[in-house]
Amino acid sequence: MGKNVKANMYVDIVSLHNEVTGSCNICTVRFPNTKKVKFIVDCGLFQEEKYQKQNYYFPFEAEDINFALVTHNHIDHIGRIPKLYKEGFKGKTYASTITSQLMPYALNNTAEILSSSLQKNPNKVKKLLENSSIPTFLANTLTTPLFTVDDVSYAMENVVGVDYLKTISVDEHIAVTFIPNGHLLGASMILVAITYRKEKPIYILFTGDYAKENVFFDVKSIPEKFKDFPLNVVIESTYGTSLKKDIEYVFKENFLNAIKRGETVIVPVFSLGRSQEMLLELKKLQEENLLSTSIPIYLDGKLAHSYTDFYLSHLEYLKSDALTQNFMPHNVTRVTDYELRQALLSDRNCKIILTTSGMGSYGPAQLYLPYYISRPKCTIHFCGYTTPNTFGSRIKEIDKGEIFELNGIMTTKKANVLSTNEFSGHAKQEDLLDLLSNFNLKSVLINHGEENTKIQFAKTVIDKINPKGVAILSSSNYIRVGSHGIIKSYPVNDLNFNITD
Ligand SMILES: [Zn+2]
Ligand SMILES: [Zn+2]
Repeated sequence: MGKNVKANMYVDIVSLHNEVTGSCNICTVRFPNTKKVKFIVDCGLFQEEKYQKQNYYFPFEAEDINFALVTHNHIDHIGRIPKLYKEGFKGKTYASTITSQLMPYALNNTAEILSSSLQKNPNKVKKLLENSSIPTFLANTLTTPLFTVDDVSYAMENVVGVDYLKTISVDEHIAVTFIPNGHLLGASMILVAITYRKEKPIYILFTGDYAKENVFFDVKSIPEKFKDFPLNVVIESTYGTSLKKDIEYVFKENFLNAIKRGETVIVPVFSLGRSQEMLLELKKLQEENLLSTSIPIYLDGKLAHSYTDFYLSHLEYLKSDALTQNFMPHNVTRVTDYELRQALLSDRNCKIILTTSGMGSYGPAQLYLPYYISRPKCTIHFCGYTTPNTFGSRIKEIDKGEIFELNGIMTTKKANVLSTNEFSGHAKQEDLLDLLSNFNLKSVLINHGEENTKIQFAKTVIDKINPKGVAILSSSNYIRVGSHGIIKSYPVNDLNFNITD
């Protein structure tokens, strides 16, 4: 055996995103025989305005990636998979079976949005690149959308659905297991096991976006055998500094008060998960006789309709109780045409409109919100996070009665604009620590959170759990891990993320 064979086995991990969207962890495995395997965990769209230009290039060669893993069907985790194939990625993308069934909906919808916004504003993309450090040769790719529905079809041919808790080989020396996760229907934590002859195996668990439970489906617990593995955990930290006691359960009261006042209640919803959760919530209120079935409910948003149909045609994925199995409330109308939308804008009667997108920036919400914001008999109730600069964030910040500019027209905010954090699909600090405390931890690598949140959460992990090593993942440093945890970090020096060892 030569020197090379004796060399260590390790994985270098770097995140493309410093904050919440554009999720993508790039992992390079070095085996003792110098073989190198490169894989990514998630490949999402950047959604914050300031990061949008990063959607147009990868700081690595797509063809160098051997395989991709996907944690769940949110566009900031899967949105650039078609682009990856377009750029020359030749490997497979592995996801849970349910996620693989859901992905075409999200990706085709995104392809449509991307091409329509490009048609509306072809200069927008070029503007994004001004004063950026992106090479100019990329500019000629910008006259076409990031990807098309054809690119989605091609990508989907290479997506492999894997059942929960079934361990499969994705490389001669790498096996993965998708572990149930309550964040979203189909969501997974992914356990990656790297083994090579007599070397001590390296285990890495990627939590993805994580929630312990879900109102719609049962989340199977983590198998005991995984709890003994010496584990490196890459954990999200979106709400790593928030505590459960800070959750304000205000939706029901706010909502029923608005209904009592005879208002139009508009709830901007995410198409997958939140739309169906809201339908279930309204069904519960009807069952409890708190909401009259004579008050009409409108569901607007093509993707929300598709996902609702997915739930209805896959009841086997949902909880088996009678309410969940019959979650559609009475008196629901799906809005599918222009005429009904126009009628809803002029209608003054008490009604409920559930509309995408959840942040108010896309979908039919773009029509309802600017119109209803100046109507006094209206409550607009957000039920999820709104990123800065979205229409949702903007109208939350304006005081009631304040005059503001809206698409060139001076408008007075007369509607009530409310929000709640009670429906979040992300674990709060207690549940994140709870999750970590299950394991034989060798290291904790923190990602998917605002920069300050990641640091604060890291301190809490050290304080409460004290694993051998704790690191912050970002695009600035590679973190090297082995079977015993963190080995070292070293800086990312160039755009191509070349390994510099
Ligand atoms: Zn998510
Ligand atoms: Zn996420």
